Amino acid sequence: MKLGLDLEDKYYNSVKSMLKILTPQLDLYQLSKLSTAEVDLAITVDLDLSQGIKVQASLIGNSCYQKQITDQEILADIYDQQDFAKRVKHRIKLIIFRVLSDYFDYPLSPWGILIGVRPTKLGHYLLKRGFSYQEVEKKFKDIYGVAQEKSELLIQVIKTERNYLLSPQEVKKRVSIYLGIPFCPSRCNYCSFASYPIKEHKDCLSDFLAALNYELETIGQQIKDLGLIVDTIYIGGGTPTVLSADQLENLLSKLTEKFVTAKLRECTVEAGRVDTINLTKLKLLKEFATTRISINPQTMNQTTLDRIGRQHTVERVEEIFKLARQLGFDNINMDLIVGLPGEKISDLAGTLQQIKRLQPDNLTVHTMAIKRASQLNRDLEQSELPAKKEVEQMLALTKESAEQLGLKPYYMYRQKNTLANLENVGFAKEGKESIYNILMMEENQTTIGLGGGAVTKLVDPSDWSLQRLINPKSPYQYIGEVEKRTTKKMTKLTSLIR
Ligand code: SF4
Repeated sequence: MKLGLDLEDKYYNSVKSMLKILTPQLDLYQLSKLSTAEVDLAITVDLDLSQGIKVQASLIGNSCYQKQITDQEILADIYDQQDFAKRVKHRIKLIIFRVLSDYFDYPLSPWGILIGVRPTKLGHYLLKRGFSYQEVEKKFKDIYGVAQEKSELLIQVIKTERNYLLSPQEVKKRVSIYLGIPFCPSRCNYCSFASYPIKEHKDCLSDFLAALNYELETIGQQIKDLGLIVDTIYIGGGTPTVLSADQLENLLSKLTEKFVTAKLRECTVEAGRVDTINLTKLKLLKEFATTRISINPQTMNQTTLDRIGRQHTVERVEEIFKLARQLGFDNINMDLIVGLPGEKISDLAGTLQQIKRLQPDNLTVHTMAIKRASQLNRDLEQSELPAKKEVEQMLALTKESAEQLGLKPYYMYRQKNTLANLENVGFAKEGKESIYNILMMEENQTTIGLGGGAVTKLVDPSDWSLQRLINPKSPYQYIGEVEKRTTKKMTKLTSLIR
């Protein structure tokens, strides 16, 4: 269906970015380039900025329909010219969002006009501008069109995050470390992460570990020289526990030698695939500084596990979880995916029943995202994905179960191409929130990424600007470029700190 928009370039482009995500079924055209007779549907926008903002949109299709928004709040002293210009853009986006929601007879998204990865950042920004929680929640709804339940979720998450966010002075002194091990036992069919099946890439493993060792040595020394405190460590990938017990022990020894001090607040290890874990490896993780592990079933439905290529059983998940508890792990996360191919609400309800029996301390719920590079995307036509309404109900069910487990939402983000444009939420028991997840999501701390596909984010607290350096995903390329890239990382880190 062709939709024509009568908007100037500066507004058209931002409306287009929003509609590309919310209404991919519409082909968009600027009415200056095409006449109304050539499109199926047209929206014209009239703007009056003489007393605040008055915006009126008319939809011309089978019949004509109009909507209007007026905004005089923007005339308050607290706002400047820049705020005014931004608000005009938001008002235009919102009116088009509302007109199209009415036309299709359903809200295009419960997130309103917010399409970014980190909607919580907007809340933190508004709080810094002096608005109260109540006012921020109202702005989410009135200005951005966010549904009540999502506004409440944002406020809940923001409140918890604020217990952990660092001041600019602390950001100068503390860093987090991310370690990427880009190997897995097999590739799950929805995956687009840095993940290479270990059996097929065994030949490069020892060179990869040697390159990683070089990065750990070099960056470890630099952190010491710069007097930085390592605040949190996150070992992810891939699946780090795919390494043999000996390889894991060497890696953890080096990591401990270089980065672990009494000031370390958290060390998470993704022990995601239970087909890579055993008693020896769990004992090793416990012996070193691990404070939190992730045991990720994604679903407790065996048929789905087989369908998505995870090559382990539900029983193994339970067995490993119980073993980890017996060994004294008191902060265990479990990842779930809502909307896996072929799953119905009843499947998810069954998964949640089993999860409840295990009582994890964290539950991270992802909405199924169709990643371009995934096998699932290639097999999309044969995959039975749940409908929008059903995915919404599924996500609501996970929230209910998390509450019954005494877990509260503490961090959240959105991804591209998720079913029904929904979010990913981390739930945790009070005091068991992952500090790394919060600081990384709010870009409130420098994270130094080591290993395959690891992203370094250098945060300058003077203006909260960000520089990114990305290690190659491919272990072969990583091995070849490690020295050059480590030198670059060190130069950038030194100039940020000094
Ligand atoms: S375990 Fe995780 S990283 Fe590995 S293939 Fe599956 S989804 Fe990707």
